[in-house]
Amino acid sequence: MLGMKTKTCDVVVVGAGPAGLSAAEAAKSAGAGNVLIVERDAAAGGILRQCIHPGFGLKVFGEELTGPEYAERYIERAAAAGAELLTGTTALELRDRELVCASPSGIVNLRFGALVLAMGCRERTRANLVIPGARPSGIYTAGTAQKLINLFGDKVGREVVILGSGDIGMIMARRLTLEGAHVKAVVELLPFLAGLARNKAQCLDDFGIPLLLSHTVVDIDGVDRLTSVTIAPVDEKRRPIPGKEEKIACDTLLLSVGLIPENELSRTGGIALSPVTRGPVVNQFKQTSNPAVFACGNVLHVNDLVDHVSVESAEAGRNAALYAAGALPSAPAFPTVAGPGVRYVCPQSVVADGGEDVTLFFRTTLPGRRTEFLCTSGGKVLATRKSPRTSPGTMEQLVIPKDAVAALDGPVEVRCEHGEVLA
Ligand SMILES: Cc1cc2nc3c(=O)[nH]c(=O)nc-3n(C[C@H](O)[C@H](O)[C@H](O)COP(=O)(O)OP(=O)(O)OC[C@H]3O[C@@H](n4cnc5c(N)ncnc54)[C@H](O)[C@@H]3O)c2cc1C
Repeated sequence: MLGMKTKTCDVVVVGAGPAGLSAAEAAKSAGAGNVLIVERDAAAGGILRQCIHPGFGLKVFGEELTGPEYAERYIERAAAAGAELLTGTTALELRDRELVCASPSGIVNLRFGALVLAMGCRERTRANLVIPGARPSGIYTAGTAQKLINLFGDKVGREVVILGSGDIGMIMARRLTLEGAHVKAVVELLPFLAGLARNKAQCLDDFGIPLLLSHTVVDIDGVDRLTSVTIAPVDEKRRPIPGKEEKIACDTLLLSVGLIPENELSRTGGIALSPVTRGPVVNQFKQTSNPAVFACGNVLHVNDLVDHVSVESAEAGRNAALYAAGALPSAPAFPTVAGPGVRYVCPQSVVADGGEDVTLFFRTTLPGRRTEFLCTSGGKVLATRKSPRTSPGTMEQLVIPKDAVAALDGPVEVRCEHGEVLA
C-alpha cells in the first residue's frame, strides 16, 4: 500500500500488560536484537492499572504490591532490557510473518522473526448470559465498575448485588463497601466458590457480605435505572426452582461471570484455538500452531495470579527469541490429556526435548479435600503431588522432570483424585 510504513523486528509482542512486558524483557535478555511491544492503550500496564488493591507479587517479588506497583516494576524491567514500546497502536491482522497495526501515524506493517501474543482477556457480559428482564442502566461488568471507580473516580451505585463469585467480583464487593455502598449479596450459580478462597475471606467474610451459592438472577426490574433484581435457588442441573424467588431492591448489578481470552487477532492468523481454554493450543515453549507465533498470559488461559502470568510469559519471550535466532529445539510432540477430575491442561502438547523440566498448568472440575494429582504416560507415573484442599478457582501445577520429558513416547494424562468432593 502506498505510503505504508514497514519495520522489521526480531521479536514483536502484542500487548503491554504484565504478560507482554515480561515476555519482552525475557526476549531481550535471551539475545533478541530489536524487540517491539505494541499496545493499543495510551499507557503500558494492562488490567493492572485499575487493580489498586494489594495482593500482587508475593510469589515473584516476595512482597505485597498493588497492581500499578507490580506493573511499574515490569515496565521498568522491559525498558531497562532495551525493549521498545509503541502505545496507541492496535494490532489488527496477523499474516504469516507480518503484523498489520493501526498506529497514531497510520498503518504500520511489522515483519517479525517471532511474535508473542499477549492480548489478555475481556469479561463476559449480560449478552453472554442471557438474563431475562428489563434493560435499565446500573448493570456493569465488575471490571468496568473497577475502571470507573479506580481510574476515573466515578461512583457506580449505592445498593449493589453481584452475580458471580469470581475474583474480580469479590474484590469489587470490598471496594464498593469501602466507597460507602451497601453490597447486599454475592450470588453464585455453582454450589462452590468460583474464585480464590483468600478473596472470600478478605473481601466478603471480613465485611459481612453474604455469599449465596446455588442461586442465580432470574429477573431484572427498572425503567431508567435498575430498581431490583429477582434471585432464585437452582437445582442440581442449575435450573431456577419455581416458587422460591426473592426480590432484592438495588440500583446496581455487577457481573463477575468469567473472562474470555481476546483471540480475534489470533483468528486472523489462523492460529489453532482450544475449545476449552479458548486460547491458542501451545507446546511447553508456548509455541502455537504457527511455529513463529507464541502466546502467554490471559490470552492463552485465564490465570488466577499475575505472578504466574509473569513467569509463564518470560518463558514465551525467551523461546520466541530462540526461535527468531533459529535455536529453538524441535522434536516429536505428544498431546496432553485432561483426565478424570481435570478441566484442561496447558500446554496442550509436550515436545520430547529434555533440555528442561516441563510445568503443566491445569484446573480441577470440582473442589475437594485430600486431593492427589497424577501425571502419567504409557502407564508410567511422571509426576505426582498431594494437596490438602483444592478448588477450580485455583490453578494447579505438576512438574515433569526433564529426563522423563526426553523419554516421552506417547500422550501425557493429568488426573485428579479427591479424598472427599466438596460440592
Ligand atoms: C477486570 C479485571 C480485573 C482483574 N483483577 C485482578 C486482580 O485483582 N488480581 C489478579 O491477580 N488478577 C486480576 N486480574 C487478572 C489479570 O488480568 C491477570 O493477572 C493479568 O493482568 C493478565 O495479564 P495479561 O498481560 O495477560 O493481560 P492484560 O493485563 O489484560 O493486558 C493485555 C494488554 O494487551 C493489550 N491489547 C489487547 N489487544 C491488543 C491489540 N490487538 N493490539 C494492541 N494491544 C492489545 C491491552 O490493551 C492490554 O494492555 C483481573 C483481570 C481483569 C480482566
